[in-house]
Amino acid sequence: MGASAMTREFDLIARIASRVRPRRDVALGIGDDAAVLDIPPGHDLVVTMDTLNTGIHFPPETDPASIGWKALAVNLSDLAAMAATPAWCTLSLALPDADAAWLDAFLDGFLALAGQHDCTLVGGDTTRGPLSISVAAHGLVPHGGALRRSGAQPGDDVWVTGTLGDAAEALATWRATASLDGIEPRQRERLERPTPRVDTGARLRGLATAAIDLSDGLAADLGHLLAASRAGALIDPQMIPGDADLVHRLAGGDDYELCFTAPAQHRATLKPLATRIGHIDATPGLRLNDGTPIPRGWTHFA
Ligand code: ADP
Ligand code: MG
Repeated sequence: MGASAMTREFDLIARIASRVRPRRDVALGIGDDAAVLDIPPGHDLVVTMDTLNTGIHFPPETDPASIGWKALAVNLSDLAAMAATPAWCTLSLALPDADAAWLDAFLDGFLALAGQHDCTLVGGDTTRGPLSISVAAHGLVPHGGALRRSGAQPGDDVWVTGTLGDAAEALATWRATASLDGIEPRQRERLERPTPRVDTGARLRGLATAAIDLSDGLAADLGHLLAASRAGALIDPQMIPGDADLVHRLAGGDDYELCFTAPAQHRATLKPLATRIGHIDATPGLRLNDGTPIPRGWTHFA
């Protein structure tokens, strides 16, 4: 056993704690039995959690810094979709061995993104097992201001942020070549280091009627929004932003962009933030305006 493999759980936790920069509202962070957090008056606490398992949610050869970034990014994307501003997070790590170098690199990615959003790591759990990372993120939203999936109304516009399909094209290349190296760098960046649309999400307060973040592909995720809103949508496939093939833009997954609905009166305000791709109507389900059927999304790449 090498020195790093003998690092004990306690030492790993100390390594994590030494790199955390606490916010003022962390009354008690890493080191006690639980964290104590000071929620500002007039706000709701918004809580989400996501797990990444090796070989299922990322290719096993993914570098640890990218895994760290993505483990937090997918959670901040959920907060963004609720219009919540990130505040705190917790991290449950199952590691096959206590590899301090792996942990340091993982934290490079995780804490870089946490720092961008002033999201403090306040606790977690460290165990031995097949590589698996669970993160919970906690965000704040003015009381009653969280966006839900269920508020879309017939006549609302449907919008998406950024571009779609790049991560799916990256995964398709990875599948075809059995290597991450052949992936076009911009697509690889989208797969490994997605940008959670936190600022855009917060801007949607008071404007959007419903929102969801795109993890499983536009067709599947917009379908969830429509089901929750008991509504349908007519989409122009030509308007779905990005250079990727239509099937990847529509059913790819791993985009971590936002899809939201808003009344037409907000078009001018929203135009700098997103692309309008269609509108909500009362006919159930998602339909394309050229009549072509919707391709099925895939659930992860394994
Ligand atoms: P307990 O046995 O009381 O749950 P632990 O020994 O598991 O305590 O954890 C000690 C402290 O370290 C706690 O504050 C816990 O939240 C924190 N901690 C453990 N693992 C992690 C981790 N991976 N990331 C951040 N904090 C962690
Ligand atoms: Mg305890």
